[in-house]
Amino acid sequence: MRISVYGIPTLFACLALAAACAPREEVTRFQFLAFGTLVDIDVYGADRELAARAAADIETCFQALHRDWHPWGDGALGTINRAFARGETAPIDADLAGLLGEAASLSRASGGLFDPTLGRLVDLWGFSDDEQSPVAPPDAARIRALLDEGLGMQHLRIADGRIASSNPDIALDLGGFAKGVAVDRAVERLRALGVRNAIVNAGGDLRVIGRHGDRPWRIGIRHPRGKGVIAELEVHDGESVFTSGDYERYFDYQGRRYHHILDPRTGEPATGAISVTVLHRNAARADAAVTALFVAGSKAWRNVAAALGMTHVMLIGADGHIEMSPEMHERLRLVQPALDDRPRIAGDFA
Ligand code: ADP
Ligand code: MG
Repeated sequence: MRISVYGIPTLFACLALAAACAPREEVTRFQFLAFGTLVDIDVYGADRELAARAAADIETCFQALHRDWHPWGDGALGTINRAFARGETAPIDADLAGLLGEAASLSRASGGLFDPTLGRLVDLWGFSDDEQSPVAPPDAARIRALLDEGLGMQHLRIADGRIASSNPDIALDLGGFAKGVAVDRAVERLRALGVRNAIVNAGGDLRVIGRHGDRPWRIGIRHPRGKGVIAELEVHDGESVFTSGDYERYFDYQGRRYHHILDPRTGEPATGAISVTVLHRNAARADAAVTALFVAGSKAWRNVAAALGMTHVMLIGADGHIEMSPEMHERLRLVQPALDDRPRIAGDFA
């Protein structure tokens, strides 16, 4: 994963509110790069040394996860993907096996819309290149060839510390999930070290602990097209807010935008949304869910949200209209319109 030039403004947008409202000295901020984005750890009112130790631990942990879970690097996942391509099995440790088990259950619940086995498609589209952005879509025949045998977690078998795939075209890509898992682990680590008020923000995807002094943490959700934030909300202890948008990684070709969230049914970038946000207690599930809901788009997101246990959802459709679950509508305050400024509440027009 490369450092996304689009990811950095997201981070600033999401922290702008917190920063503006906080007397500087009450919040200690630690920053580092991981998972292709800037990670911010803001700690409120805790012992500075304790917070620095926690942040350093988390940075080390994130760097290790980034290496282990990079689909084409020399860590565990890269080794697995190269073995699959040769029709061979590869070693897998209990941590990664557990993670893939969780990913498989989320993939099933999403009806396959969240599919971490489409690594070769991501690569074909040029979105796995850390250094370069793609300039044109791949050949349709090559996309079809990759989908031919059917992707999906059901092709994988894990036994006796080894993993096998029945389809050599499968490559694991945890890009839609890893950040969430990492954020959950960071929160666990902070809590274990005794930090009681903090926010872990990985490029706009975040989870909070405790409060910002005498009020909850407040965050903004980046506008998918305009400047600044489109909405803001208060986030309570243990809650996470994750967003997937078509503005994170994309290229324009012949007047059309091609972005990094692929529809596993077509092998093409999903077209039913430009941004999806969820609020949920578990960051890993939230991360997988926003990817799946983005693919589901404005026609199908309600069923997929129900299947994934997501109650708080906002989706901005391809034409810029905003749709929300009633639960999200209650929590979130729109700051500016998308393109069409009438938010539709899910129950109103199901
Ligand atoms: P971001 O990483 O920008 O926050 P997402 O969480 O939606 O956005 O993850 C997008 C990444 O997930 C892509 O870069 C790719 O690696 C992977 N991906 C793309 N489409 C899917 C999909 N349908 N299911 C699972 N992972 C996907
Ligand atoms: Mg995701």
